[in-house]
Amino acid sequence: MKRMPLIAGNWKMFKTVPEAVETATRLADACREIQNVEIMIAPAFVTLPLVAEAVKNTRVHLGAQNLYFEPEGAFTGEISADMLSTAGAEYVIIGHSERRHYFFETDEMICKKIKAAVTGGLKPILCIGETESLREQGKTFLTLDKQVSDGLQGLGPDEIKDLVLAYEPVWAIGTGKSADAAQVEEAHQYLRSLLEKQFSLDLAKTIRILYGGSVKPENINELMRITDVDGALVGGASLDVHTFTKIIKFDTQL
Ligand code: PEP
Repeated sequence: MKRMPLIAGNWKMFKTVPEAVETATRLADACREIQNVEIMIAPAFVTLPLVAEAVKNTRVHLGAQNLYFEPEGAFTGEISADMLSTAGAEYVIIGHSERRHYFFETDEMICKKIKAAVTGGLKPILCIGETESLREQGKTFLTLDKQVSDGLQGLGPDEIKDLVLAYEPVWAIGTGKSADAAQVEEAHQYLRSLLEKQFSLDLAKTIRILYGGSVKPENINELMRITDVDGALVGGASLDVHTFTKIIKFDTQL
């Protein structure tokens, strides 16, 4: 089963509105000729409508970095799935480790967010991954198991058909220290087996599993050679058009 690779950039809390529009415009231009790879950027909420305009009819898809699970209401400072999709987002990153760590997001909240995204017509990118201490305690698989089963609790096959999983070992995010090929391979294989157990083999074969954590032009080829790696979620290296384009063009380097 051939899965379309997805290279997704998480811009986090970087780039003002004009900076985001300028970077997105240059990225779309640099990626004009790219086939066979889906490209996505997730800039800050306030930039979405203008960035959507800048990447309209280009190879670049748009995502958001978070949402709130209620459809609307008195939730000061939060944002709904409908607000994101009408601002131009197609994807939404959910459960990023920074959200889990700094904003105390639990698997239960994350599950509600996934449901809200699906109901609102957004494609969720569910981030999971163990901390360094959990890995050292030999609890990597246990952690992934809990994050996947609780995060996708109660969702049916139809609801997860557009889901993307992103395996992001917390110790590899923003540290410059990527997981090695063997660690990535065993985690991705394990995640696909979890999807098979929770849903079905057919569905597990179609769901894309991205790797995230210090992805750069120097390691993307090795990562993309791993059978169950279907792309990358890129933080720091997605902020610069030249660097991000090199990552996106991995296939031409293989
Ligand atoms: C991320 O924030 O999802 C990420 C993977 O960051 P970085 O690429 O900077 O490690």
